[in-house]
Amino acid sequence: MGKITIAIDGFSSTGKSTVAKQLADWLGYVFVDSGAMYRAVTLYAMRKGHISTTVFNKRKLEECLDEISLSFKKENSSSKAEMYLNGENVEREIRLMTVSELVSSVATISSVRVKLVEQQQQMGEGKGVVMDGRDIGTVVFPGAELKIFMNASADKRARRRYDELIAHGDNVTYTEVLENVRERDHIDTTREDSPLVKAGDAIEIDNSEMNLEDQFHIILQLAKDRIAGRL
Ligand code: C5P
Repeated sequence: MGKITIAIDGFSSTGKSTVAKQLADWLGYVFVDSGAMYRAVTLYAMRKGHISTTVFNKRKLEECLDEISLSFKKENSSSKAEMYLNGENVEREIRLMTVSELVSSVATISSVRVKLVEQQQQMGEGKGVVMDGRDIGTVVFPGAELKIFMNASADKRARRRYDELIAHGDNVTYTEVLENVRERDHIDTTREDSPLVKAGDAIEIDNSEMNLEDQFHIILQLAKDRIAGRL
């Protein structure tokens, strides 16, 4: 059966990765969480001392990009592919609030975007990929057969993210998470290079009042229709 490319974009914490992973598992496609790649670059620059809450050394960050090698690896066929930074599993660390607070500023840097977009395009070369992010339907795969744009109220998104972080033992307040969600929305939508915008041919889904199962079935049906259209 002909494989397609599925791009899932949208605001922070709209559950893009969850539905993208479900869809990829169901279709037997590769799932790529592009945000994890921006987070891993951010973590590397933090560890090197090039960025922090008080320092933002763009030049040093750009100079160290060639030292960064990113890959996704799965433990077994049903698990989620985890993010590896220079061979080290950083899946847990890249989700911490300290990384969330800096990642959107790092994602404004064009040389960072060029490096990551190139790798993302290689990963999707043979189609059969579900990738989630901010610029997947507009920049990475403008020709994707199915483009979804996910949205939900900032309060709902922050609440979901807060519950996730608390479950992982992160020491955060709801207000901090809400502020971070709003701040990232602002930076992502107003940056010059590849801002977060809905592609003209994307289908918008607001999941503020939708459960995961209903959302999955709506998107799966859209994917099946697109795949059938390619037979
Ligand atoms: O998806 P996630 O929230 O983990 O992404 C973290 C950050 O990485 C986003 O807030 C955004 O600034 C950046 N990003 C991006 N382009 C992508 C994916 C993520 O700019 N394709």
